[in-house]
Amino acid sequence: MQFSGYDTRSLMTVAKRPEQVFVRGSGSWLVDHRGKRHLDFVQGWAVNCLGHASPVVTEALARQASQLINASPAFFNEPAIALADFLVRHSCLQRVFFANSGAEANEGAIKLARKWGALHRRGAHEIITFDHGFHGRTLATMSASGKAGWEQLFEPKVPGFRKALFNDIDSVTALIGDKTVAVMLELVQGEAGVVPVELDFIRQLRALTREHNLLLIADEVQTGVGRSGSLFAYEQFDIEPDIMTLGKGLGGGVPLAALLAKENVCCFEPGDQGGTYNGNPLMTAVGLAVLQTVNTPDFMAGIQQRARYLESRLQQLVGTHGIVARRGMGLLQALVFERDVTPRIVEAARLLAPEGLLLNAPRPNLLRFMPSLNVSFEDIDKMIELMLLALTRR
Ligand SMILES: *Cc1c(COP(=O)(O)O)cnc(C)c1O
Repeated sequence: MQFSGYDTRSLMTVAKRPEQVFVRGSGSWLVDHRGKRHLDFVQGWAVNCLGHASPVVTEALARQASQLINASPAFFNEPAIALADFLVRHSCLQRVFFANSGAEANEGAIKLARKWGALHRRGAHEIITFDHGFHGRTLATMSASGKAGWEQLFEPKVPGFRKALFNDIDSVTALIGDKTVAVMLELVQGEAGVVPVELDFIRQLRALTREHNLLLIADEVQTGVGRSGSLFAYEQFDIEPDIMTLGKGLGGGVPLAALLAKENVCCFEPGDQGGTYNGNPLMTAVGLAVLQTVNTPDFMAGIQQRARYLESRLQQLVGTHGIVARRGMGLLQALVFERDVTPRIVEAARLLAPEGLLLNAPRPNLLRFMPSLNVSFEDIDKMIELMLLALTRR
């Protein structure tokens, strides 16, 4: 693709991208190469939890970059120790391994469950996952995912994953056998269209996994770090997972993810798991600064207020413009449309002038909203205003 003096042909084409290059951002706003401003309700896919160019992130990066960027994973470093400690003190899990992406954290979760099965469950290794679930784009996490259209890609897949139906406990029970070691799920299925797990289902699932001595793995890559309205989504369901993965918001925009486990599940030994960049001080210093910002009573109360406001503004639109439902949790919200119109709405919103709006359509009948966790009420109003324009102009 060639436009405005750019030639993008050296890049592999892994996504359909518009003729646009984003050059800087601030808070909820992104500016492209022509200087046009866009209100951003995608935020790098729920990654920039403090918005663009947050001083919390830029100052932590600058401070740590001038101290120590990487001493190799063969040595301890202070930010990794401090961040692991913070996560342990504020969650139900006792051990942490850092990764560079959500998919990599989930790979670690799969490996840990398989090792635990080899040690404690006579080699049980199958993991029950869910239809429409999304766990990442490595070969194993694609195999664990239930994303439509992926069945035939990159065959043969990694074996050992069986798919149950989300929010259907009988479909899980039916798949449990001698070889089953764990059940892995998102507490709000994101790519599937922002579908929250039902309270009854997750409680029954926790009881069922206990009864069969199976591990419960919560993929909180999208829902964790305040996105759902609590630091971790599992808190709102009154259950405790045995393994949890974090990503996205944890780094506030930089590549940082984590695998957390209960003490009795953590069975990795030296040599089992690692990676050149894993737990490097530059990223973990940012993670610590992000968590110290997000996990204060005021900030959390702010997320809940913003979430209630966004929810009510979206709810008011149900019944208009072909919108049939709103659903979501915290600042992860969605509008469901009667017809497959949302890719066109996303395009119309981006092209609005003088200011564009960035939205995401994980499914062709659905819009997903994932603003920064500190989005202003004015920017929520502005988003609704711009979206209404896009809805009438598409
Ligand atoms: C985004 C996401 C992943 C993958 O994270 P990457 O950092 O893109 O590898 C895994 N699970 C869930 C639930 C996600 O939303």
